[in-house]
Amino acid sequence: MSDFVLKIEGGEVYDPINGVNGEICDVWIKDGKIIAPITDPNFRPTQTIDAEGLVVMPGGIDMHCHIAGPKVNTARKMRPEEKRNSDPVMRTEFTHSGTMGSVPSTFATGYKYVGLGYTTAFDAAIPPLSARHAHEEFADTPCLDKGFFTLMGNNHYVMKSIQDDEPEKLKNFVGWLLNATKGFAPKIVNPGGVEAWKNLPSGNVSGLDETVDLYNVTPRQIIRGLVTAANELKLPHPVHIHCNELGMPGNWQTTLETMKALEGHKGHLTHIQFHSYGGGEGDENTFNSKVAPLADYINEHDNLTVDVGQVLFGSTTSMTGDGPLGYFLANLYGTKWFSADTEMEAGCGIAPIKYRNKSLVHALQWAIGLEWYLLVTDPWKVVMSTDHPNGGSFLAYPQIIRLLMDATYRQDVLKTVPKEVQERSLLGDITREYTLYEICIITRSGPAKILGLKNKGHLAPGADADLTVYTPNKNKEMMFEMPRMVVKAGEIIVDQGDIRLSPEGKTLHVKPTYDTTMEKEIGEWFEQYYSIQFRNYPVSDDYLHDNEVVQSNEQ
Ligand SMILES: [Zn+2]
Repeated sequence: MSDFVLKIEGGEVYDPINGVNGEICDVWIKDGKIIAPITDPNFRPTQTIDAEGLVVMPGGIDMHCHIAGPKVNTARKMRPEEKRNSDPVMRTEFTHSGTMGSVPSTFATGYKYVGLGYTTAFDAAIPPLSARHAHEEFADTPCLDKGFFTLMGNNHYVMKSIQDDEPEKLKNFVGWLLNATKGFAPKIVNPGGVEAWKNLPSGNVSGLDETVDLYNVTPRQIIRGLVTAANELKLPHPVHIHCNELGMPGNWQTTLETMKALEGHKGHLTHIQFHSYGGGEGDENTFNSKVAPLADYINEHDNLTVDVGQVLFGSTTSMTGDGPLGYFLANLYGTKWFSADTEMEAGCGIAPIKYRNKSLVHALQWAIGLEWYLLVTDPWKVVMSTDHPNGGSFLAYPQIIRLLMDATYRQDVLKTVPKEVQERSLLGDITREYTLYEICIITRSGPAKILGLKNKGHLAPGADADLTVYTPNKNKEMMFEMPRMVVKAGEIIVDQGDIRLSPEGKTLHVKPTYDTTMEKEIGEWFEQYYSIQFRNYPVSDDYLHDNEVVQSNEQ
């Protein structure tokens, strides 16, 4: 405990979880937490920040990005041409140096995120076997609180438990695996499809009911099994789903089927933009937006949430746990390609890509992403993401905010893309503009709620003192790309664009209870099939530096 008290005085405060919409008020901070206002007239805070005329929000939360683990590391190594041509982050008294490009180095990732006012980020796809690697990289990614989702949708033990119709065994395995990896949530990527890519001539699955031969299970069974297990474990964020058939024309029906397959269970569908396409396979002439029927379904069902995976024009690096997709993209773009197999667990594909505004397909992807923000009526159900770096860099967030808050600007950009976009999407007809309150929801308060982070995304007493102070500007891109100040765990770490402190940040993970007698059988499975011994597999408690166990609301 310290006596240091920070007061942020007279700002225009946005705190949607507590219903605060632009009211002028003070925020009090002590020991890294928000505290109730001190009303004693004789009390003097240690430091007072005059926020008159400035906007105050909780720190941003990116609930889906790729910033750690072997896939990200490989992508860094694959793009020397990009590294060479981008401005590096220079070393200062407070920071390490770092490289940029579409896959910034660990240090640069932390500095750039917090420079935008983001204080928490989740890596969306870590193979269990690479958990240790991801945690080590997190330790080198400063200024952010971090967590990751553990890949499970193509795990052999998962598929075997489903084949044997042993839901209790599956539930215990999910619980054990989250403990063993110090992960935050189960992640499903192209369920069954990655396994088919590794083992079957078909190289993928289509729809939800094609059988993955090795275990004779279907994507639908994998989704249902994992969603049920995750909800029974009462995880704060039960399940994070990357649907089958990402990027394929006509995939919207598979996406709709996936939504239905959840049968009312709580679940989050990620980078939904890439899963909302009409049209026939391989036929560019019929490729079109199917956001409207999917958004209608989300509007009518409160168990479902999405993040967008917005595409922005320019070069980037695609990286995915969806092995066959990496192969597809590399062929499509004729670029270099990396593919990997994580034994028993997962796969991955990496390829450089470029989104061009003169390409009808790319322009439609851009429009489809924006349609998602604008057609989901309740902002608590939709989260801002670029699936960094897949749709574009997280550095594009201020540009997306401008596109959402300024319909005139959006129409101006729409004029620069092929005119067929207007015929094949609804974007040209949508006049909705986001308010600051709604932006605050889709960038911090909403993701906090969807992730079950009770201490983040709001400014009531007890919350982590992560917050961002912005200087209002008519141009919202300029407003959001350089916050006036960023406070992390009660310390001012960014002041007028300069990093003043570089804390390590903590790791957020879950520790669900499960039947530990199961470990004997899981151990036998490991001894039989894995290249590493069971006792060397789990990430031990002392492996993480600073960490916090996040419990479900129901526990
Ligand atoms: Zn992703």
